[in-house]
Amino acid sequence: MHELSIAQSIVELAEQQALDHHSSYIEEVELEIGRLAGVELQTLEFAIESAVKGTLLEKAVIVYRYIDGEGRCAECEALFPMEVLFSPCPVCGSYFVKIEKGKELRIKSIVIK
Ligand SMILES: [Zn+2]
Repeated sequence: MHELSIAQSIVELAEQQALDHHSSYIEEVELEIGRLAGVELQTLEFAIESAVKGTLLEKAVIVYRYIDGEGRCAECEALFPMEVLFSPCPVCGSYFVKIEKGKELRIKSIVIK
C-alpha cells in the first residue's frame, strides 16, 4: 500500500530529526498534504496512526494541513480551484493546466522536546 510506505517514511524522517537533536520525544509533527498529491487522505491518517506505534512519535500530536488544489490555465492564465487532477480550465475549457498548489506532501515542522 502506497500510503503505508509514505507513513513509514514520515515516521523515519521525524525520528531522524529527533535523534539528530539528541531527543527521545517528539511533541508534534505538522504535515502538509495536497489534495492532488495522489494519496487517500483517510488511509494515510490511518497508516500514520499505526506507523507511530512503538516509535518516538507514539505520543506526538500529528497535525494535518490539507492544501486545496489550484490550477493555472496555460492558455488564458485563469487561476481556479482544482478538485481533481486533469480538470479543464473553467474559463476556456483548455486542458493545458499547470498545477500551482495541491501536490505537496511533506513534513512542515517538527516540535522536539
Ligand atoms: Zn483557460
